[in-house]
Amino acid sequence: MKVVKFGGSSVANAEQISKIIGVVTADADRRIVVVSAPGKRCKDDTKVTDLLIALANTVLAGNDFEKELNAVVDRYAEIQRELDLPADVVAVIEADLRGRIAGRGSNNLQFMDAMKAAGEDNSAKLIAEAFTKAGFPAKYVNPGEVGMLLSDEFGNAEVLPESFEKLASLKDATEILIFPGFFGETKGGEVATFPRGGSDITGAILAAAVKADVYENFTDVDSVCAMDPRVIDNPPAIESMTYREMRELSYAGFGVFHDEAIIPAVHAEIPICIKNTNNPSAPGTMVVPRRTPEHGSVVGISSAGGFCSIYIDKYMMNREIGFGRRLLQILEEEGISFEHTPSGIDNVSVILASANISNEKEALVVNRIKEELKPDNVTVEHGLALVMVVGEGMHYTAGMAAKATGAFREAGVNLEMINQGASEISMMFAVKDDDREKAIRALGAAFFGI
Ligand code: ASP
Repeated sequence: MKVVKFGGSSVANAEQISKIIGVVTADADRRIVVVSAPGKRCKDDTKVTDLLIALANTVLAGNDFEKELNAVVDRYAEIQRELDLPADVVAVIEADLRGRIAGRGSNNLQFMDAMKAAGEDNSAKLIAEAFTKAGFPAKYVNPGEVGMLLSDEFGNAEVLPESFEKLASLKDATEILIFPGFFGETKGGEVATFPRGGSDITGAILAAAVKADVYENFTDVDSVCAMDPRVIDNPPAIESMTYREMRELSYAGFGVFHDEAIIPAVHAEIPICIKNTNNPSAPGTMVVPRRTPEHGSVVGISSAGGFCSIYIDKYMMNREIGFGRRLLQILEEEGISFEHTPSGIDNVSVILASANISNEKEALVVNRIKEELKPDNVTVEHGLALVMVVGEGMHYTAGMAAKATGAFREAGVNLEMINQGASEISMMFAVKDDDREKAIRALGAAFFGI
């Protein structure tokens, strides 16, 4: 059996919803359907979730909210009209929203979650009606009622372990199930949501719970590209990659899933397939527990800007017991997480995401390093980008680094740092932000011949 998830663009209007019905009913194994709230219909459109947040904020500010409420209701009304569903569907949605507002308690975060969840909840109800009207009986599922239990960290909830056992019985359902993504219920019966984009998490949880053969995640691209299409024209498509390849690629700029979204599917070793609602016959990209890669093959090249490095130099650093611990302790005490720490005999660099360290914090940290570690030299370098070359096939393959550095040399890209070996499946290079695109193009030519 397959669990399928459709994102916001796939449920944005009636035309898209009709495509979903076609996709789901074309394969009898597609039995659990997770849906997002209606997303953008065009570039400048607003997602229903954002409309709901605006509505909740207006309510919380004590202002008249009719305009914001109508903006949400109108989105559903448009879908109802275009799908020719009974008009009272819209009245029910409006009553649902008013009920959530009237039921507001003293906890604002809890109220915000109840409002945000209305997006997927009403979307699922409407889509279940659309399936049934098209002659395919489908049932809306209330997440709380079937055991989607979440922690009470409103807006950032996590699934509770007991949910999996409870949700497992969904595999016995005879109808197509339409399950709203993004939210569940706390043990106290309150609605709580995952972080934004959390319908992916719902799908992964359900796929794990019912031990699906595959978790199909439908979006609006045919497949995941091996390189950033904004930098490289027509990059090759990735047919298949492993979970850890995906994790490494998404660390540096691949926006496939947000990292934590698929953890439940990964733990249960459920293969994930990323497919296109607008072109469902395209094979998509498979993300699998393991694969046998071609020797020396690279699956993708990614990059992300916005890093800085603190470089520390001290003669005989290698003999000084506790140097590394004391250095990292300074960062810990200042509440800063670090990304990488490449080191030499007498020097170490700490790479940080610039967003995690303000100018004041930076001055404070540098001062503490000078006073507490007495280095010969401390320098901070800003404006760095990380470029990653990822592939299971790189493991123990000689010459991969030489190929990359040779490409950089030819392109005139100056390397600030190389980190190879810590991960078996990737090489990481730090370059100046200004050199990033040049670096990516050089690697594209070297590894993909493009
Ligand atoms: N609708 C929610 C959001 O926009 C969740 C999702 O679409 O996955 O973040």
